[in-house]
Amino acid sequence: MLKIPIKTQNITSLRQSDIQKIRQDFPILNTTVHGKPLVYFDNANTPQKPQVVIDSVNDIYTKYYSSVHRGVHCLSEKSTRLFEISRDKVQNFISAKHREEIIFVRGTTEAINLVAQSFARPQLKPDDEILMTTMEHHANIIPWQMVCGQTGAKLKVVPINDNGEIIFEEFIKLLNPRTKLLAVVHVSNSLGTINPIEKMIEAAHQQNIPVLIDGAQAVVHQKVDVRKSDCDFYAFSGHKLYGPSGIGVLYGKKALLEAMPPYQGGGNMISQVTFEKTIYNTLPYKFEAGTPHIAGVIGLGAAIDYIDNIGLDKISRYEKYLLDYATQSMQEFSDIRIIGSAQKKASILSFIFEHIHAHDVGTILDQEGIAIRTGHHCTMPLMARFNVPATARASFAFYNTIEEIDVFLQGLKKIKEVFHV
Ligand code: PLP
Repeated sequence: MLKIPIKTQNITSLRQSDIQKIRQDFPILNTTVHGKPLVYFDNANTPQKPQVVIDSVNDIYTKYYSSVHRGVHCLSEKSTRLFEISRDKVQNFISAKHREEIIFVRGTTEAINLVAQSFARPQLKPDDEILMTTMEHHANIIPWQMVCGQTGAKLKVVPINDNGEIIFEEFIKLLNPRTKLLAVVHVSNSLGTINPIEKMIEAAHQQNIPVLIDGAQAVVHQKVDVRKSDCDFYAFSGHKLYGPSGIGVLYGKKALLEAMPPYQGGGNMISQVTFEKTIYNTLPYKFEAGTPHIAGVIGLGAAIDYIDNIGLDKISRYEKYLLDYATQSMQEFSDIRIIGSAQKKASILSFIFEHIHAHDVGTILDQEGIAIRTGHHCTMPLMARFNVPATARASFAFYNTIEEIDVFLQGLKKIKEVFHV
């Protein structure tokens, strides 16, 4: 195999024996694909689920299932208690001040749409501005385009350099009295760039501009502290955090959430209804209309316990070790260009093979049992910035190994053989 010197693994990171134990927690990792052991490098898309999460969802349906907040019977009380304990877990996980600042939604996408419609829309006027960056996911572009269409406000975009980093001076220049919100991704899903959100929030707040952070990729790789960063809104998805899909979180500062109108109307979000008038429920329920994703919320709580138990510090050091190894090893391929080489990066590696389309790369790797993502990764404007239609993306989780990266590198060699390049 490739003999490329890399820094030895940090002793405070996860050890080989830890990883072998961790891998046993994820039943799907024992699967074979096309007769080969599965190498799952599509983690930025959605990672696999540990048995404790699968068990917690199974337990709900087999032991405790009932609707929450409305029943007086034993099962409803039990599921309500577990549901609300999950809210406490999320609160601690992101260090929010108040539990009612945690709103359960379907995912990052719904969280951002909620802020666009409930927070931004009522106050935006023609020629106001929403500021974002070139590396936003479509989930953090389109809700703002829609609200701009509804109000006459304009989108402004912070440029990035060739490494995939925000050009900070340009960002500062774009802040002005018309800027009504900064919406920025914490970790880019396509480039892996970790943005300097604390510095950005500080600069925006100096001009009283509120900030929404799209944390879909960040919460999995590093400790997020919403009080320390002082962001106004923070959005993330349960499925990217090893939890179930269809559940996510919007964090918002209490005073802002209290002043906002509800996003959707229905059951659970009311305290009193007549045909003439409705009095809305208090936070967080004002934003949780209808029967929630009960199993999703409780499964998310189990995922947070699992991650906390391993420790995000250890996870991020180990993932950095995997990223460094893969990045350095890929230098051997003169016809591969890595897209995104920011100084601060999470374990996301986008690349293109000269003369070979990303989809062909993905298809050949799939034959080797290796799952990566190919395409525009819901970041079409970013692809345009790098002048590429698509990239291949390998993204590593803490259950991946150096040996799997070696299998992936062999797969890349195979692609060259198939295409005679
Ligand atoms: N933002 C980023 C950076 C993402 O990577 C994703 C999903 O890939 C999203 C937003 C949307 O997340 P979801 O589809 O879970 O709502």
